[in-house]
Parts: sequence; structure tokens; C-alpha cells
Amino acid sequence: MLLGILHETVPGETRVVLLPETLKTLLAQGISVTVESGAGIAAGATDQAYVEAGATVTSDRASILANADLLPMVNAPSAADQAQLKPHSILIGFLKPLDTPQALATAIGRPVTLFSMELVPRISRAQSMDALSSMATIAGYKAVISAADRLPRLFPMLMTAAGTIPPARVFVIGAGVAGLQAIATARRLGAVVEAYDVRAAAGEQVRSLGAKFLDVDLGGIATEGGGGYAAELTEEALDRGRDLITRTAAHSDVIVTTAQVPGRPAPRLIRRAAVEAMRPGSVLVDLAAPAGGNCELTQPGVTQNLGGVTLLAPLNLPAEVPVHASQLYARNNLNLLALIVKKGELTVDLTDEVLAGACVAHEFNPVNPRVAKLLQPATTST
Ligand code: NAD
Repeated sequence: MLLGILHETVPGETRVVLLPETLKTLLAQGISVTVESGAGIAAGATDQAYVEAGATVTSDRASILANADLLPMVNAPSAADQAQLKPHSILIGFLKPLDTPQALATAIGRPVTLFSMELVPRISRAQSMDALSSMATIAGYKAVISAADRLPRLFPMLMTAAGTIPPARVFVIGAGVAGLQAIATARRLGAVVEAYDVRAAAGEQVRSLGAKFLDVDLGGIATEGGGGYAAELTEEALDRGRDLITRTAAHSDVIVTTAQVPGRPAPRLIRRAAVEAMRPGSVLVDLAAPAGGNCELTQPGVTQNLGGVTLLAPLNLPAEVPVHASQLYARNNLNLLALIVKKGELTVDLTDEVLAGACVAHEFNPVNPRVAKLLQPATTST
């Protein structure tokens, strides 16, 4: 059985799916590993390191696509790559099946199996495969580091002979995986941190990190959807959050905003007035930019200077930390692969809750009902 590691082609991508030090368990099962030359360079893994780990390296991308039985990746391959996949092979990655299902149409129309990291169920048994959480952890950390780097102030309180410098004030909106890591990172740097989330359960976690949780009276409405995620709120409830955010923005040096509702555009929580209320030099990092952004002024992927306030809207912060992002992603992948490769043999057991949840398509069939529904109009109109 052959496992292929391709050079990622999405612009700005620096991660690689498996680092040399993570190949041992695969090779021990008799699986051969072929790496496209240069695949790991941006993540610090040379071709030589892969060879020393026991893999072969080639510049022939087409031969990897045509021969690999297993193709774990970071991002979805292009339609041209999908057309070359080996029949009955297995593709795994951040395939964005609910955001851009059409981009997977070629692979779905072929006798292959697709597993999406975004669809891995967030249940205890699958925690070690939860790549969304791994990448959110990195994004939360890096958001604070990026803000600290741009802020014309220091984060910690300093008492010096030249006077006392007050600590920076950081406001984190959305205390999920990324938000909690942002809070922890800002606290480690010495900032005073406040946080807001619609889920009351987040309050205890925020306080345990030494930050202040800002409560909003939402009139007792249900704020939790399934699986620990937030529910989509009414405009009236959103407005109460927006008012709190505008008030808090006025005394915040940094805002890191992460609020998302699965399968929906990111809630617009930060009004223009909130940005205008911030002092010149302040920094706002909108981690919800890939889903449209939490701020009404956000332009995904664009850094703006708005009256002296820097608004960052990064689309792929984990790619700015390629070594550890690849390391964590590789471990998530290996744990998922362990469900698929048993004693060196491929088994796609779709009665397994984790595999069934993560499966986008299997041998010509879109298995995931949400993906199938999204693809339906296009399928019937052709
Ligand atoms: P996410 O990225 O979907 O959302 C980020 C945060 O935004 C969430 O905390 C959400 O409550 C918040 N939010 C949404 N709408 C908001 C609004 N209008 N105003 C303010 N905040 C808003 O979430 P996530 O970080 O992926 O995970 C959320 C929760 O899911 C976690 O805190 C955890 O309880 C659960 N989770 C469970 C597992 C597991 O069991 N394996 C893994 C990861 C996460």
C-alpha cells in the first residue's frame, strides 16, 4: 500500500500533512510512503529528512496521484488533481465540503473515498483527531502575538524607574477553542483580559484563565445549539451583544474576535461605531474572517488601517506557524488513519461513527446528506 504526501498548492500554504518523524507507525505496518519533492520545506522538513525517515522522494506529482492508495492532505486538491486520483483510493483533508462542495465535484464523481477533517464528530473518542481544534489553538495564540507585534504599547504592566506602564487591555469575543487560547496567551503576556460569549458555559472557562467574563442578559433564550456549539441568535439578541461590544471596545487596546456558528456566516457583532470608539493604535484581529468576519468593516484577507486602528483579517494563521501546525495536524491525521488502516490493510468501515461522520463521499456516492443536498441543484441542472 502506498501513502502519498503532496506539496500543497494553495497560495500561502506552508503546512505539510505528515512530518518525517510521524511516519514511523505507518512504515512499521509495511506501508510505503512517497513524498513530492519540497513538500515539507516550509515546515522545516527537507527531502533528505523524509528519505532518512524511510520514505522515497520524487518530483513526479502525477505518479503520486495515480498510485497512492492513501492521500492525506492539508487542503483539498484541485479538480485536475482529483481527476488523477487512483480508483478506490482515500483522500483526507480540510476539504471544505460544506463551504465549497462544488470544488469536490470531480472527486465525488469518481470511485474514491473522501474524509473531511471539518466533519470529524466532536465526540470524546475523536478528540485526538480533532484537527479543527488543533488549528484553532494555533490561530488563537498567533492572533494575540500578531496584535502584540503591531500594538504601539507593551502588554505587561511595568514598574520602572522611569515610571509605571499600565497593562494592555485585551477583549476576546467568542470563548471557544481559539478564544480560550487567545485569552491564555494574552494573560501570559501580562494583559488584562475581558471576554464575551453567548454560551454561559464559557464563563467558567474564561474565569479559570484569569480573565473577566462579560455577561449579557439575552432574556433567557437558548444560546447553545448541538455539540457544545452556539445557536444562531435573533437580531434582537445579537444587538445586545453588539451594544456590550461597542462599550467594551472603547477601553480595549486589542480585540480578538472568534465568534462562529457552524454552517452559517459568522455573526456580525462589531459595528463601525465600535471600531471608531477604539483609540488610534489599537488592533482588532478578526479570526472569523474565513466565514465573512465578525466586524462589519472586515475584508477577509486584507489588513486595513481605519483611522489609526489596525484591522487584521487573516485567512490562514496556522500557516504562519508551519512547524507546530504540521506537527499537530500530522498527529490528528495519524489517529484518523489508525481507523482506516488495520494491520497494513485499508478498511473503510462506515458503521464506525467517526468515519461515517467524516465521510464526504464513498465510491461515487456523496455519503454526507448535507453535502449531497448542496450538490443537488447543480447535479439536476446538468
Ligand atoms: P466555534 O469556532 O464554532 O465558535 C467560537 C465561539 O464563538 C464559540 O464559543 C461560540 O459560542 C461563540 N459565539 C457564537 N456566536 C456568538 C455570538 N453571537 N456572540 C458571542 N460569541 C458567539 O466554536 P469552537 O471553538 O470550535 O467550539 C465551541 C465549543 O465546542 C467548545 O467550547 C467546546 O465546548 C465544544 N468542543 C467540543 C469538542 C469535543 O468534544 N471534542 C472539541 C472542540 C470543541
